[in-house]
Amino acid sequence: MRRKLNLEEVSDGRLYRSQDLVKAGCGDCHGCWQCCTGMGNSILLDPLDVFRLEQGLGQSFPELLSSALDLNVVDGIVLPNLRMAGSQERCVFLNSEGRCRIHAFRPGFCRLFPLGRIYEGDGFRYFLQVHECPRQPKTKVKISKWLDTPNLKTYEDFVLSWHQFLKKAEALLEQPSRPETAENRSDTGTGLPDTTRQLSLYILQTFYLAPYDLSGDFYAQYAARHAAGEAFLAQV
Ligand code: SF4
Ligand code: SF4
Repeated sequence: MRRKLNLEEVSDGRLYRSQDLVKAGCGDCHGCWQCCTGMGNSILLDPLDVFRLEQGLGQSFPELLSSALDLNVVDGIVLPNLRMAGSQERCVFLNSEGRCRIHAFRPGFCRLFPLGRIYEGDGFRYFLQVHECPRQPKTKVKISKWLDTPNLKTYEDFVLSWHQFLKKAEALLEQPSRPETAENRSDTGTGLPDTTRQLSLYILQTFYLAPYDLSGDFYAQYAARHAAGEAFLAQV
């Protein structure tokens, strides 16, 4: 998600790489679940998050949509996010003791918090959001350990690739509209402009709805879909 950030205001003013130490450790969150409530639509799920949820819960993407996820338009593109429920807006995976029911396969956003990523040039670095997690005192942790993600280099390459793909799709949506013709006219009643609808449907279908081989390697499957996605963007 694109956000205008004033790093001076939200962070400790430093940018980090995964081998750096950062003061983010919060003692296993014991007794706190603040960042699992009131998050609105902001916990976006990338294709790896959905792959992990499908594996961990044994549910397909449509089944997840009916029980735990919502779809929302983010920067012009329809993407899934974790559902918050009830008057307290609790994540649907938070149990009655305030613990995460899916800790082993929780989404990347939850692994990252209270860190964020800032994309610059052909890469990204991490920053510490100093106002988001109230737990004190904080301990120093190595970011690679904090993320609790195997094959971190491969994961970071995927994160960058997915970010760049979405940016490219968003840039296409910002181009002036093509003239409407009988062929490209939207007739679904979605209210979305035709190119937006076409792109969103493609992204949802290709990266989320089309079933993954859950016993296979995610990154290889993503790479094939990404190559097809790039070809699709080139002809939109
Ligand atoms: S706000 Fe901080 S301490 Fe509380 S659950 Fe989130 S990361 Fe843990
Ligand atoms: S998935 Fe788990 S860690 Fe993430 S917001 Fe929900 S309860 Fe919290």
